[in-house]
Amino acid sequence: MSAELYKNPAISQTANGLIPLAGLGRKELAQALTDFGIAPKQVRMRSKQIFHWIYNYGVTDWDAMTNIAKNLRARLAQTFSLERPEIVDKQVSIDGTRKYLIRMAPGIEVESVFIPAVSKTGALCVSSQVGCTLTCKFCHTGTQRLVRNLTAAEIALQVMVARDDLDEWPSSSGERKMTNIVFMGMGEPLYNMDEVTKAIDIICDREGLSFGRRRITLSTSGVVPEIVKAGEKTSAMLAISLHAANDELRSQIMPINKKYPLKDLLEACRAYPGLSNSRRITFEYVMLKDMNDSPKHAKELINLLRGIPAKVNLIPFNPWPGSPYECSDWETIESFADRINAAGYASPIRTPRGRDILAACGQLRSESEKIRASQKRKQQLENVDNT
Ligand code: SAH
Ligand code: SF4
Repeated sequence: MSAELYKNPAISQTANGLIPLAGLGRKELAQALTDFGIAPKQVRMRSKQIFHWIYNYGVTDWDAMTNIAKNLRARLAQTFSLERPEIVDKQVSIDGTRKYLIRMAPGIEVESVFIPAVSKTGALCVSSQVGCTLTCKFCHTGTQRLVRNLTAAEIALQVMVARDDLDEWPSSSGERKMTNIVFMGMGEPLYNMDEVTKAIDIICDREGLSFGRRRITLSTSGVVPEIVKAGEKTSAMLAISLHAANDELRSQIMPINKKYPLKDLLEACRAYPGLSNSRRITFEYVMLKDMNDSPKHAKELINLLRGIPAKVNLIPFNPWPGSPYECSDWETIESFADRINAAGYASPIRTPRGRDILAACGQLRSESEKIRASQKRKQQLENVDNT
C-alpha cells in the first residue's frame, strides 16, 4: 500500500495495523483497492460500491456490505478499517450545541461544533487546521501556534463523526438536523486550500455525504490571493471575517490586514464567482465594546460594502479566559444592527450558542495544546523544585 496516498503518515495505519478508508476521496479509494490487488476491470465498480457504503450508509462493519462477496469482504477486513477516529471528549450545552474533541492522530486533536437549528438550518462548524498562523486579537485559536494543516480525510471525518453522533445515516434520508457545514472552527481554511477543496468534494458527493455546495460556507480572515480561486474550486458560499471597516483598526485587531488591506479584500469579494443577490457574501462583524461599535463605525461599514450583495452577521464577542476585549452592550449592538439594516443590508445578530461549554465562535482551542501547556507548567514547577 502506497503511503503517499495519505499526506499525513500518521493516519496511514490505525493502531491495529489496518489502513483506514473512511475519509478518503474516490480517487484515493480506487488507488487503495488497486494496490490491494482488486482486478483493474473491477476497481471502478468496487470503489463505487464501497464509497456508497461508507458515505451514504455510514457503515463501519465490512459484513454490512451485502453486495460484496463474503470472502472478499473478509479479505478486505484484514487490510482495511472503516473505523472513525476516537471522540476523546463530547460536551452538550444546555442549548443543545454539541462540541466534539476528536483525536485524528497522536497529538492531533480537533474540535468541531454542531449548532442545532433555531429555524431550519443546523450547522456543523469544522476545523481546517490545528491552531492558526494568524493572530487575530479577539480569537482564542489565534493564541495557539499552528500545529499542522488537517488532511481532506480529517476534515470529512469531522462530518462523519457528527453524523454518527446525530444518528443521521443514511445520508440520502430526507430530514436531517445537520444541513450546513461552515469552516468556522479552528484555523484559516484558505491557507489549506488543497485539502479543503478535496474535503468539500467528498462532503458534496451526491452518492455520499450529499451536501449541496451552497450549504457549505468558507470563512476567511481575508487571504486575498486565494478568495476567487476558492470560489472557482469549491462553489462554496463565502464569509469574510471583517470586524472593522477602516484599515487602521482592522490592522490593529487582525494583523493579516497589513498584508491584504481592505481595498484589495473588497476587490476580491466583488470578483467572487457567482456573486448575486441570491448568493450574497456574509460579512462577519464581532462586536467589541468601544472598539468597533459606534455609529461612525456603522457608517464606515455601510460605505465599504456599497454595491456588494452582502449580509452582515453581527457576532456578540465571545470572551475567553484572558481575552483583551469585552462584548458591546446589547443596546449598542441593536442600534448598530438598525443602522446597517436601514442601509438595506440584512444584519442579524447571532445568538451566542454553546457559551457554557466554550463552543462559541472563536473559543475553540485544541485540548492537545491545553494539555501541553499544563505539562509545561508542571515541568516548570518540577524544575523549580529541583533547584
Ligand atoms: N479563520 C477563519 C475561520 C475561523 S474563525 C476566519 O477567521 O474567518 C470563525 C469566525 O469566528 C470568524 O468570523 C472569527 O472572526 C470569529 N471569531 C473569532 N474569535 C471570536 C470571538 N472571541 N468571539 C466571536 N467571534 C469570534
Ligand atoms: Fe485564525 Fe480565524 Fe482566529 Fe483569525 S479569527 S486567529 S484567522 S481562526
